[in-house]
Amino acid sequence: MLKSGIMVRWFFTTILVIALILTAISASIVFLLRDYYYETVENKLLSLGQIGVVSDYFSSYLGSDSDTFSARAREYVDNYQDINVAELWVINKDGEVIVTSTGFISENEEFPDYDEAIDSVSGRAFWQGEMSSGEKVMALSVLLPKTNGMSNGAVRYIISLEAVDLQVGKITLIVGLISLFALFLVVFSGLFFVRSIVVPVKKLNAVTRSIAEGNYSQKIEMNKRYDDELAELAESINYMTDEIDKTDKLKTEFISTVSHELRTPLTAIKGWTETLLCINENKDETVNNGLKVILNETERLYALVEDLLDFSRMESGRMSLHLKKIDILAELDDAVYVLRDRATREGKEIYYSSPDYPAPVNADPDRIKQVFVNVIDNAIKYTPAGGRITILAFVGSDEINIKVADTGCGISPEDLPRVKEKFYKANLSAKGSGIGLAVCDEIITLHKGSLEITSILGEGTEVNIKLPTLPVNLSERKDS
Ligand code: ADP
Repeated sequence: MLKSGIMVRWFFTTILVIALILTAISASIVFLLRDYYYETVENKLLSLGQIGVVSDYFSSYLGSDSDTFSARAREYVDNYQDINVAELWVINKDGEVIVTSTGFISENEEFPDYDEAIDSVSGRAFWQGEMSSGEKVMALSVLLPKTNGMSNGAVRYIISLEAVDLQVGKITLIVGLISLFALFLVVFSGLFFVRSIVVPVKKLNAVTRSIAEGNYSQKIEMNKRYDDELAELAESINYMTDEIDKTDKLKTEFISTVSHELRTPLTAIKGWTETLLCINENKDETVNNGLKVILNETERLYALVEDLLDFSRMESGRMSLHLKKIDILAELDDAVYVLRDRATREGKEIYYSSPDYPAPVNADPDRIKQVFVNVIDNAIKYTPAGGRITILAFVGSDEINIKVADTGCGISPEDLPRVKEKFYKANLSAKGSGIGLAVCDEIITLHKGSLEITSILGEGTEVNIKLPTLPVNLSERKDS
């Protein structure tokens, strides 16, 4: 999973930003509407409590005794029309509520707007808060004209804000839902769009990786619905693959032709050198030594040419097997026999152990022997004098397992996964084309087996070859 994939970037740069913008717009709408509603309530209170009207009504009762004032106040409340809109209180000069439109007077009620109105120049003041019942209200106290600077009381209008707040709540819900729906649409269409990029890009990535691994026959199939830049890119990659494929085939053909052309003169050189060595035996030592050098180098060149031929066969899929039922242990015996002398000459010990009954395998004997020779040859090549090469064979119920372990230089963990690649050399100082293991792996795979390499740098390498065996005819086992 990519940490900063297109999806993640799209989420942070688009969805998060849009979500923030939608939240800001929704919050602004809700606050503006709330302000508007509260202002409407304020205006309603002002229209109810017009100072002139209130003063006129009480003008001849100001300063009169409390009973007369109370009677006038009751009369005022009785004639009050807007009982459904706002509650009405009349407050006397001592700041006590003497009559209310609900007929109910609570002792615990606070009315700070009245105190504020007394101190204000305009003679009125608003208050927003909670009544003792917990109801949220907005109130306006309108002071009656003072006499000799002394308060004569006030009338107070109270409107409940519950309905307004309910309305604001509903609007908040609707705005929230609309915002969520808008966000959902953006996410949905965005996902569709981003997927139309991410999915083909992943496909392109997978195919280009496969092409990089040498599968030039791979073609990118794009969704025909979109004729966009990605489709163009896919077309270009397909074109590039075709061109690489052509060049690769040309290269393989060239290697094949050159190797064939080289093999004929090399065979002649090798044959003549051997003949001259025989003729010159026991004569001129310098000529003899020279001829041996020519023979050695010719054999090396010959092996290289064979490797190249195998490589071109492998590349063009022409590596064919001549399968027959063979005793694979006989091929292993042969390979060990061929190389044992060389190992001894180079001061390396070969320890070889295998069951002394045949292990029948359906295989191409030449190719299988080539694998054994190559693997043992590598073990000898990469093991210093004094080292040991252990070759063991185990025959299971349906497969044979051959181990070639050495105490050589080993392969570093970085190189290990790549040593089976064509022309990959972990050890550049040693002679070799780097093709041997690739060919061995191909041969073993064609035999439906496996070739695994484990290694510890500086300690040694172990090559493990597994091949399926044919059912054993018990009479074939010498020891059974
Ligand atoms: P080469 O002809 O170079 O030996 P191979 O394909 O046989 O090519 O091997 C590829 C690389 O793997 C070699 O260059 C060498 O670095 C490494 N290698 C193979 N076998 C051994 C081994 N037994 N010990 C150490 N390195 C090995």
